[in-house]
Amino acid sequence: MADDRAKLLAKFIEPLRVKPGSKVKLARDFDPGYKASFLSKKDGAAVVGAGVDVLAEYQARLAAQDTWGVLVCLQALDAGGKDGTIRHVMSGVNPQGVHVSSFKVPSAEELDHDYLWRYSQRLPGRGEIAIFNRSHYEEVLVVRVHPELLDRQRLPAPARGKGVWARRYREINDWERFLADNGFKVVKLFLNLSKEEQRIRFLRRLDLPDKNWKFSAADARERKYWDDYQTAFSEMLSNTSTEWAPWYVIPADHKWFARACVSAVLAYTLMEIDPHYPKVDAAKRKDLAETKALLEAEAPKGAAPDPFEAGLAAEAGQQEDGPESKQARKQRERMAKIRAKAAKA
Ligand code: AMP
Ligand code: MG
Repeated sequence: MADDRAKLLAKFIEPLRVKPGSKVKLARDFDPGYKASFLSKKDGAAVVGAGVDVLAEYQARLAAQDTWGVLVCLQALDAGGKDGTIRHVMSGVNPQGVHVSSFKVPSAEELDHDYLWRYSQRLPGRGEIAIFNRSHYEEVLVVRVHPELLDRQRLPAPARGKGVWARRYREINDWERFLADNGFKVVKLFLNLSKEEQRIRFLRRLDLPDKNWKFSAADARERKYWDDYQTAFSEMLSNTSTEWAPWYVIPADHKWFARACVSAVLAYTLMEIDPHYPKVDAAKRKDLAETKALLEAEAPKGAAPDPFEAGLAAEAGQQEDGPESKQARKQRERMAKIRAKAAKA
């Protein structure tokens, strides 16, 4: 991997990854309240900041290379923080290269097709990042917890019955493998919230008038099925974390920590792809040089033949011996501290 920052990220996100083939019991294996001991809230913001920079840089290269695509699947229970995470983590990237799709209760047209149909229409193109706010995993989560939703899908009799969930896991794994083999990286993030933190966040939505719109009484009623969801999530993680598309379980009770983790996973994923700007070949370079000479010859009397080149040279000189900006220095020092603390931990 080209970047030194990748090592810090790898260490940071390793404990969040679900080992393919391992049997997960959420309550036993993952603490929603976890935050790395070496990281303060302020450090967390710095990690998000660094992640945002990395994402912006690598997303531009991903788009230019136009070879790989990235699909990010975000799953969580209500109030898990999906919307806020997307807003913060993707704040630095060019909106032209990213699209977000939210999946709600399926429409009549969607129910008329196979269960992956609507998701496949929203996949990223090459050079793009697609974010699924809820994803095809709802098909083994809400649909599993509420079997009447499966009835609405009007499957033929042999496709229903006891084996349906094991089959869906296999089909989803196969689908993701197909995508991975064809240049589309699938990143799966589960924001793991505790029942008590969800209660507090619902109350916040009730207490703050500006947040009322986000509250739905149906969401609160869904708390009755908490244990069923925990089981469905555990089964999903046990059966669909694969070498080609692993799950990350993000501790979500502390929003700042969840955002730092998501930012780190996405930055790491892009670094792993390591996209490059297309190289310009000799013929093209010659072409560029000839065009440059022609444009320079057109300079009006008294004007610099290439004012942009003059500016570039001045900038390079400043960077070599000029002082670093205060903000850049602070960011660099903070990241160095986090690196040192992480190395000790
Ligand atoms: P929200 O994302 O909070 O706006 O709510 C979307 C709602 O759509 C949630 O209650 C989901 O459980 C529901 N939903 C999402 N996907 C499906 C699906 N495949 N089948 C049934 N309900 C779904
Ligand atoms: Mg909702």
